Amino acid sequence: MPESNPLYIYNSLSRKKEVFEALNPPFVGMYVCGPTVYSDVHLGNVRSFLTFDVVYRYLTYLGYNVRYVRNITDVGHLLDDRDEGDDKIEKRARLEKIEPMEIVQKYTNGFHNTVNQFNLIPPSIEPTATGHIIEQIEMVQRIIKNGYAYEVNGSVYFNVKKYDEEHNYGELSGRKLDELLNQTRDELEGGHEKRFFADFAIWKKAAKDTIMKWDSPWGIGVPGWHLECSVMSTKYLGQAFDIHGGGMDLKFPHHECEIAQSIGADGVSPVKYWMHGNMLTVNGTKMSKSLGNSFLPEELISGDHPLLEKGYTPMTVRFFFLQANYKSTVDFSNEALQAAEKGLNRLMTAIDTLMQLTTSEQSNVDVDAIIKASKESMNDDFNTPTTIAHLFDGVKLINSINDNKNTINDADLKILQNHYNTFVFDILGLTKENSSSSNDELSDELMGLIIDLRNQSKENKDWSTADLIRDELKKLNISIKDTKDSSTWDYEK
Ligand code: ZN
Repeated sequence: MPESNPLYIYNSLSRKKEVFEALNPPFVGMYVCGPTVYSDVHLGNVRSFLTFDVVYRYLTYLGYNVRYVRNITDVGHLLDDRDEGDDKIEKRARLEKIEPMEIVQKYTNGFHNTVNQFNLIPPSIEPTATGHIIEQIEMVQRIIKNGYAYEVNGSVYFNVKKYDEEHNYGELSGRKLDELLNQTRDELEGGHEKRFFADFAIWKKAAKDTIMKWDSPWGIGVPGWHLECSVMSTKYLGQAFDIHGGGMDLKFPHHECEIAQSIGADGVSPVKYWMHGNMLTVNGTKMSKSLGNSFLPEELISGDHPLLEKGYTPMTVRFFFLQANYKSTVDFSNEALQAAEKGLNRLMTAIDTLMQLTTSEQSNVDVDAIIKASKESMNDDFNTPTTIAHLFDGVKLINSINDNKNTINDADLKILQNHYNTFVFDILGLTKENSSSSNDELSDELMGLIIDLRNQSKENKDWSTADLIRDELKKLNISIKDTKDSSTWDYEK
């Protein structure tokens, strides 16, 4: 169980770092909003899921028994936040001329493949919205019974105005209804079903051509998007549970609505610690499809995108994400990714060295200090960048022992080896397999060939060819080092 040092979590609800106290230790319930499976998962999502993968791993390391629920949204997510427009999955199905469930399956498979590549541990339960229609209808009924929702023409809307009179709509996002009203240009005109601009659909009447739809006390329809998370989180984790995570973009309205729905239905605020991960930017600009600066995880791995100089391994990307605090934005640039690639290589090389260090009678190094520092930074709201910095302090130490500048005894070596295995592989979730580029072997062989050709031209006193090869390689950021009897190559630092 939790050690002497408490774990601190930044709670978006209180806007403070709080000591983590599980509701029912050693059990921890954690819910993370999963993907809407209507298109390829984008990198921002990967980063968000990665954040909670590390949270899950660290809580497990601390000795908690975590039930981790991450849903699949396979119905109900409309193109428009104002409860208008098509269902995202239905629209895609019409475009591709296949069944909505084929879209769901295709992109669920794709999502699983992607998160596997980044070594994300699968959740304990991965429930789907379509698998919980009955529970969603029941929750709508409870909300209506408690007077927080009303039915109009086969749709049911959450009564935000009434709710806000008795509770606090906006407590999570810090938004105030009157400020929102001033900002909105979405004035409710005559004929609109909603009574109030901020009301949201918890059940929506199905259009004639809708394929995925269900019978309900209000007629044939589909559940509102916010509802599924309230239903599935509380079904599997209880009316009140420990941690709810998601991207910053979900804080409002999605998570705000989840709180209102749970309080509206059951009178219970559902979540003790709300956690939100920040967004991605590319070269300082928001990553977005319309700006042409967004790339898919596959494109980042293959390097097949105009903005990418080369491909980066999933572990380089994972390491790159972990070098930033989850609450900060992460900026993609080739420079930063290549720096992460080098850093990761250095770390992995040091771990190889660590596993083969020669021991001495005496240690003159303080391994406990590194271990203590790593734990403290993780306990400080999962501060992975600082943890990685401490691991690199250890890299210096490892290399100094390897260079015989310091000594380590058997007992300390075991402790240090165990620490790196635990923190690098189990907690940060890095792996050796996907660390170095899969093309490395081929690159080595090709470079060997090029160096041989260059050496031949030098032997033939064909200096211009030899220089041409060197200069052209330099343009590719590859440098050749000539020593007396051999030549080596490396990517330029
Ligand atoms: Zn959700």
